[in-house]
Amino acid sequence: MTIKLNDTALLRAGPYIDGQWRTSSAGTLAVRNPATSAIVTEIATADRAMTNEAILAAHRAMKDWQAVSAKARAQVLRRWFDLMMAHQDDLAVIMTTEQGKTLAESRGEVAYGAAFMEWFGEQAKRVDGDVIPAPSGDKRVICIKQPVGVVAAITPWNFPNAMIARKAAPALAAGCAIVIKPASETPLSALAMAELAERAGVPAGVLNVVVGSSSEIGPALTDSPLVRKLTFTGSTEVGIQLEQACAATLKRTSMELGGNAPFIVFEDADIEAAVQGALISKYRNSGQTCVCTNRILVQASIHDEFVERLVAETAALKMGNGLDEGVEQGPLVNVGAVEEVERLVRLSTEAGAKVELGGARSELGPCYFVPTVLTGVTPEMAVFRNEIFGPVAPVTAFADEADAIALANDTEFGLASYFYTRDIGRVWRVAEALDYGMVGINEGIISNEMAPFGGVKASGSGREGSKYGIDDYLEIKYILMGGLDR
Ligand code: NAP
Repeated sequence: MTIKLNDTALLRAGPYIDGQWRTSSAGTLAVRNPATSAIVTEIATADRAMTNEAILAAHRAMKDWQAVSAKARAQVLRRWFDLMMAHQDDLAVIMTTEQGKTLAESRGEVAYGAAFMEWFGEQAKRVDGDVIPAPSGDKRVICIKQPVGVVAAITPWNFPNAMIARKAAPALAAGCAIVIKPASETPLSALAMAELAERAGVPAGVLNVVVGSSSEIGPALTDSPLVRKLTFTGSTEVGIQLEQACAATLKRTSMELGGNAPFIVFEDADIEAAVQGALISKYRNSGQTCVCTNRILVQASIHDEFVERLVAETAALKMGNGLDEGVEQGPLVNVGAVEEVERLVRLSTEAGAKVELGGARSELGPCYFVPTVLTGVTPEMAVFRNEIFGPVAPVTAFADEADAIALANDTEFGLASYFYTRDIGRVWRVAEALDYGMVGINEGIISNEMAPFGGVKASGSGREGSKYGIDDYLEIKYILMGGLDR
């Protein structure tokens, strides 16, 4: 199968290291289209030695890059933004082909990803220092901010563009060089971004992409003393392993990990708005986002009405190949993902959950699972406790506000949360009581480049995007000037 693009040079076939596209390599990686299960292409992979080359190249290139003025770095990021938007359609086709999400969602993700280039280009010029009151009149205390050093970024397949953009943009804005290891399911989007970075004028070595086995590339990144920061987006399980691996070299880390988002609907809510919010928050990317609603908690008095409307809207979602017009639900990323969703649904129905809709694989192909609504879900059930990462909406009834908050917080995770109410007192009480890094009130979609994205508890540490997002890539240096009275 081939991918039809306006600009065929966006399809790259191997790692990008020190400004060179590598085609000879340690091995190859087959990229599959989950909609058809067909192999799209095979690309050359990097091994540990090539990853070390990339780290060394980044270390060398950073010396000049950090000396470039913030304004000049901002201009490069702005050109990268412009190029990503100019190639939005091609980048979206590549993404849908390797990941499965609908073309409309892929286009949206490219715009979301590009927005980080624009935002952090602007922020590069606002990395201000401080002059702090000194302990005596003959002294002055100054703080300056400097790039943290070479950054390693490991990213997941569910947002093949934006999760890279959210790390590469602040790193480059801060004056760091970066080595990116994208997920093996979605290397083509990462390589296309690197192609556009090169065209935007990112100097050789400042941005490197190593595709390939995580067992080869991961240890090279975590063990190297030249890498001063690791930024990871992915599962909590792998995040913990990486945190431990980084301890030996005391790297700075930021971890964007798994979620188990509650979506609370109080009886005073606008029910139609809540159903629409639940639909978009649950079924976006076929349920494969870390901020996807994972548990719908509905006040008992409106439970039946809410479920009836949710089932009707969910049943109307059009499933199919994300490249086809009008499709609203694509396949899951691979067969393993379908098997895991199937397992969680089976365990929960065996424990007493009722299938209101779906509950099984689709005949469309091995990677499709029918959008599903479950009711009667209780806190011990597998769909309540685990991140589902699929199109399954588990509904639990609750009695009152205290009950809703207790259910919502009954999880190790703490990434996104949502609730619907028209009561202003409740808005504040519940927003403050939820143990989460992010709260959406009467909204099912909350991500944007200007807001701080991140979690607490097992959902990780650090914030991406916003005015805070560049701090993870900066060190504060304190300078004391003495003897000023002589
Ligand atoms: P994953 O299995 O943790 O993989 C993520 C990345 O880590 C991939 O590039 C993977 O490479 C790499 N990796 C896996 N094991 C590794 C190891 N031992 N050493 C070094 N690298 C390793 O997660 P996923 O299945 O791709 O993504 C889904 C998860 O990401 C979900 O839990 C989701 O909630 C989370 N997520 C979080 C956020 C957030 O901002 N909080 C955003 C999006 C997704 P390979 O592909 O080569 O195995």
